[in-house]
Amino acid sequence: MMVEVNKKQYDKMTRLTLDVLSDYEFFCFPLDVFSLAEKIGMKLIPYSTLTLEQYMTLYHKYDMNLGFTVSRSENGYIEYDTYYNDVDIQEPRQRFTIAHEIKHVVSGDCHKKYLTERDEALADFFAKSLLAPQAIIIQEGLSSPEEYVERFHISQQSAEYCCSATEHRKSAYGETFLFDYEREFLERIRKYG
Ligand SMILES: [Zn+2]
Repeated sequence: MMVEVNKKQYDKMTRLTLDVLSDYEFFCFPLDVFSLAEKIGMKLIPYSTLTLEQYMTLYHKYDMNLGFTVSRSENGYIEYDTYYNDVDIQEPRQRFTIAHEIKHVVSGDCHKKYLTERDEALADFFAKSLLAPQAIIIQEGLSSPEEYVERFHISQQSAEYCCSATEHRKSAYGETFLFDYEREFLERIRKYG
């Protein structure tokens, strides 16, 4: 089912990705999304490290296909355990899963009783923008999915989606147009990257 997400929500997600990258000072691409997640305070647990018993316990409670995050209180702090499928999922897709889970953590989704399809659609959008910011794509004039794969270490499928979204944007705003918040982000990369 397609979920209605309006442009304003997508813009908000784009800004959130650039804020997260700036706040944690991650300016190199391909993004080291595993380190970023750890810096945010997420404990990353690949399925390959689980015992069969642990796996089965989780299996009965969660959708184990790609990954998920469980928050818990520990000594007054909130801890995030992010489990992700590293067994039958390729690395670029694992990176996407981690980026998707970062959205659930930074925007407080983890504390909701359940996540809506909109929450999931926004987390997917966040993941794409976090791993392959359009600001960089525009600035570097990347134009084919293959270039995206190489530059951002994302899957071919994700690259094709990002590429068509960027081409769409270019035809709406112009080849080299950047939003103010994107220019500020690129300026920060020049200064600190
Ligand atoms: Zn999700």
